[in-house]
Amino acid sequence: MSRVLIVEDEEHLARGLKLNLEAEGFTAEVEENGTAALQRLVGAGAGADGFDIILLDVMLPGLDGFEVVRRLRAARQFVPVMLLTARSDTDDVLRGFEAGADDYLPKPFDLSILLARIAGLLRRRTWLRGDPDAGQERELEEYRFGRTSIDFRNQVLRRGKVEQPLTVMEATLLRYLVRHAGETVSRKALLEEVWGVRHDTDTRTVDNFMARLRRYIEDKPARPRHLLTVRGVGYRFVDKPDGDG
Ligand code: CA
Repeated sequence: MSRVLIVEDEEHLARGLKLNLEAEGFTAEVEENGTAALQRLVGAGAGADGFDIILLDVMLPGLDGFEVVRRLRAARQFVPVMLLTARSDTDDVLRGFEAGADDYLPKPFDLSILLARIAGLLRRRTWLRGDPDAGQERELEEYRFGRTSIDFRNQVLRRGKVEQPLTVMEATLLRYLVRHAGETVSRKALLEEVWGVRHDTDTRTVDNFMARLRRYIEDKPARPRHLLTVRGVGYRFVDKPDGDG
């Protein structure tokens, strides 16, 4: 049984979501603002709650949803987060992903859509973990290159003695790059295939994510050897740069 934390200040909506999710077999709890949610998830004594997914409203009193997810990630809490946005404004969606969210759903939404999206996010995490019960072909569990290894099962990137936990979104992006190693992938393809954003949009988000990944995997992020920029097009991941043994 999956546990869901709903962070939503509109009481009727929060209550409706909770009842509907419980009717579908989830355990659901509600916090009505970001501060309370953060206290619950990363405060003293937190972490034992073991939520499987957070439904996080963007428009909250006090800290907004973007700030809440940013603080969760900064506190190394990597639970899957789905943002509930008031509008499907692409800028908001991308801002949410940059803050560390894994998915988003514009309001208002049908319950069936919400359930499908929750199932999709939980499945993606299961898939990253290579769960043999997921009914999918065995997936790559670990990938090594240079001094780096990516443990997809546990969503952790290791580099020397440094462990960097990954969000579902970061792990999905790395897996996409690894699968296309040696190929140039366009920003547009990344937006569509990794983020699911079909929009002719500002691609700074892609660049910001790549900058983040470079900090994880490059000795000198400003002079990348594995995650190369292909001018005017996109990026290319190279597992063995020229000159490596
Ligand atoms: Ca709200």
